[in-house]
Amino acid sequence: MSASDSYDFDLFVIGAGSGGVRAARMSATYGAKVGIAEERHLGGTCVNIGCVPKKLMVYASHFDEDFEDAAGYGWTVGPRSFDWQTLIANKNQEIGRLNGIYESLLTKAGVEIVEGRAVLTGPNSLEVAGRKITAKTILVATGARPSRSSEPGQELGIVSDDIFFLEQQPERMMVLGGGYIAVEFAGIFNGLGSEVTQLYRRDLFLRGFDGDVRRFLAEEMRKKGVDLIFNTIASQIEKTSSGLLVTLSDGQKREVDQVLYAIGRRPNIEGLGLEAAGVALDERGAIKVDDHYRTNVPSIYALGDVTDRVQLTPVAIAEAMVLAGNLYRGEDRTLDYADIPTAVFSQPPIGTVGLTEEQARARYEALDIYRSEFRPMKHTMTHNTERTLMKLIVDRPSQKVVGAHMVGADAGEIAQGLGIAIKAGATKADFDATIGIHPTAAEEFVTMREPVPEPEQLAAE
Ligand code: NDP
Repeated sequence: MSASDSYDFDLFVIGAGSGGVRAARMSATYGAKVGIAEERHLGGTCVNIGCVPKKLMVYASHFDEDFEDAAGYGWTVGPRSFDWQTLIANKNQEIGRLNGIYESLLTKAGVEIVEGRAVLTGPNSLEVAGRKITAKTILVATGARPSRSSEPGQELGIVSDDIFFLEQQPERMMVLGGGYIAVEFAGIFNGLGSEVTQLYRRDLFLRGFDGDVRRFLAEEMRKKGVDLIFNTIASQIEKTSSGLLVTLSDGQKREVDQVLYAIGRRPNIEGLGLEAAGVALDERGAIKVDDHYRTNVPSIYALGDVTDRVQLTPVAIAEAMVLAGNLYRGEDRTLDYADIPTAVFSQPPIGTVGLTEEQARARYEALDIYRSEFRPMKHTMTHNTERTLMKLIVDRPSQKVVGAHMVGADAGEIAQGLGIAIKAGATKADFDATIGIHPTAAEEFVTMREPVPEPEQLAAE
């Protein structure tokens, strides 16, 4: 297939992040003539200022604890120190390598990369760095960007985009927010030796996650030294000669070196020319799409974080696969958004799939809850007091496992397999019939035999 005579491209993608790159590459593989515009680095947020460098920093931050743990196994570790600049330089080199891989994936598939910011000028036209381009179909995959709030001095704070390039490691760090990014960076900087305070505006962070998981993680993070302060926000930030003075909503003042805003991400739509093209937004400023990623303009599609459905890289990639197949391989598929497994790379990490206990109680009449909390085997020989939590939520009449949750080492790795079981509709009997792998922590998921007492029963005791 080639671009129909009147257009430069069959498909032009705005934004070379996880969703955009996959849509471009697959569409080109299916025979479409494809172009893609990117104003920053190939790979978008996840590769450059998100998942990938974050995970590298999580690894970096865990060594201190590992060195401590090693002593219990007979190791003597010599004097140790951490060099922020080395971490950042090595991380930059690795990300550069990944940028190169993305470039070659695109060009090998025959996608033309156009560097610069794309602005829509109509339903089938756009401009990138002065070049006028037409396309039969346009895909907006511009992602999202970190939000800030409006208190005085907010401009003195940084956001996750900045944190990967700081010249110095902050000795004292304040993290604002209680979502994925906030708990991940609180853990990273705590592990790297910074003094970390995390503020969250309600009772307990990680709203939307299972209540036991939230309480358990808060306890573990506090044990590791993160100063978690709930029901509090920052009401002012001022610059002083020695740092940033943050006034909290309860009147306390804290001086820190950096303040990280991790209070959510909003769709990246500013200056894109969406109005010129007539693309409608929803009330949260996200591009409105149907289950085929069609906007209200027939030639324009959107997917990934700019549509603000589920802000996860693998979801954007899955959406892109569906779209490319529908557009250029004659398919008519939609994505199933149920039971998306996810991990929070907190310390210890969370792995989760399916319903929380709270969601399941609202949906089902009767539940069996299986819960296990233990000291992981590794720490039976260390002074590390970290514990592990595992939890299964089972719909009592059908015995279907409708949720699985874990806080503990490798939780993300373990949740992936649990995700398959839950997606396949496994029952508790299927879990029970599965032989455990011994000795692992994961085997606990197939050996939990006794449900916890009902809440009413507990209350009566
Ligand atoms: P989240 O939406 O996860 O969390 C935002 C947090 O900020 C919430 O705790 C929210 O509180 C709080 N908040 C919002 N507005 C304000 C405000 N004005 N003042 C104070 N606090 C506020 O956003 P993140 O920025 O952490 O991450 C964005 C998304 O990126 C995630 O939802 C996730 O989908 C994705 N992500 C995924 C990762 C992974 O897979 N491991 C890692 C990092 C990001 P409240 O609960 O009260 O609303």
